Amino acid sequence: MKSISDTISEILKNYDLCEYCTGRVISKFVGKSSSKFLGKKYIKKFNKLSKKKCYICKNIFDNFDTMLSNIFEKSSNYDFKTYNLGIILKPSFLERDDYLKSKYKIKGIENIKFGIATELGKKISRRTKSKRVTDDPELFIQVNFKDESCVLRAKPIFVYGRYNKKIRKLPQKQGLCRSCNGVGCHNCDFKGIENTVSIEGKISNFFIKRFNADQVKINWIGGEDQSSLVLGNGRPFFSKILNPKTRNQIMHKSSNLEGVNLSELKKITLQPKGTISFKSQVSITIDTKKPISSNQLKKLKFLENAEIKDVSRDKKNYHKRIYKINYKKLGKTSFILNLIIDGGISIKSFIQNSDLTPNVSELLENQCTCEKLDFKNIII
Ligand SMILES: [Zn+2]
Ligand SMILES: [Zn+2]
Repeated sequence: MKSISDTISEILKNYDLCEYCTGRVISKFVGKSSSKFLGKKYIKKFNKLSKKKCYICKNIFDNFDTMLSNIFEKSSNYDFKTYNLGIILKPSFLERDDYLKSKYKIKGIENIKFGIATELGKKISRRTKSKRVTDDPELFIQVNFKDESCVLRAKPIFVYGRYNKKIRKLPQKQGLCRSCNGVGCHNCDFKGIENTVSIEGKISNFFIKRFNADQVKINWIGGEDQSSLVLGNGRPFFSKILNPKTRNQIMHKSSNLEGVNLSELKKITLQPKGTISFKSQVSITIDTKKPISSNQLKKLKFLENAEIKDVSRDKKNYHKRIYKINYKKLGKTSFILNLIIDGGISIKSFIQNSDLTPNVSELLENQCTCEKLDFKNIII
């Protein structure tokens, strides 16, 4: 049986290894943690100082400077206190590492990638006064030694808020670019979106500027037509702000974006999962085809607490209700209908003849159209 000393000596005799790789490879044998210092000690002890390149890493540990200045230059744009590293290496590095380990039956030591990440991490932490963590880092640095490049990506920021819409003719969502369908092309300046004004566009641009971010994804609690106003407390939304370079900015509670007012803005740790149920308080101006009398309008009282069914859908998954109703006759062929109704119901379908039952046209036996529709409040 070979002694530990013999094995170490044999490894160092057959392979030129740098101080880092020596330390790593022998760490388990000598019961110490892997370090440059440990490697240096044993290379000296066995007198195996070599001018040749390290068999495993080709002296990668001595050539971090270019990569580090690249990382420092890019990371200086980011706010971060914690980060983690991902290392991309040519497969041959790992192959040589594995070959040597299996040849000498070395188990349970850090692999070469791990060793590189540890050493790079020490230098990054020291320079940027930040901490390397595996769990939920604020910045992720992908280091690619194949082409000497690095890509930095910040953890998203989540913001909850509500918006009020004070002007008509403004759609909620930004359409995708028609030429590329969202992929990004010359027509859309590689943003993938149509060059129009929308609530989504206004909110996105506001957050992109505020957090120096790349992109914003918004999760809406319901939606409205471009001609509808959103009044009261406003419609809630959740936004995910991608790759924010600035993250410690104080978030003001409200902001005015010309026609769209934001309120209750606050950073949250995570977006809620699944759909959020909500109720809408709406005011609808309705035109009727035939003249309508106050007496006929009384039928609308049947709608209070009524359940709405959609005959075109699986009934099991459609439990929508009306909670409150009141109305006011405006003229011979028009009236106002105020409702508190479950979110997710198409109000226009509910007014016109449609698959929704009951619906206002059917109930009044008069063809109704939605002339104006405003959201007075969204209740969650
Ligand atoms: Zn090495
Ligand atoms: Zn495009």
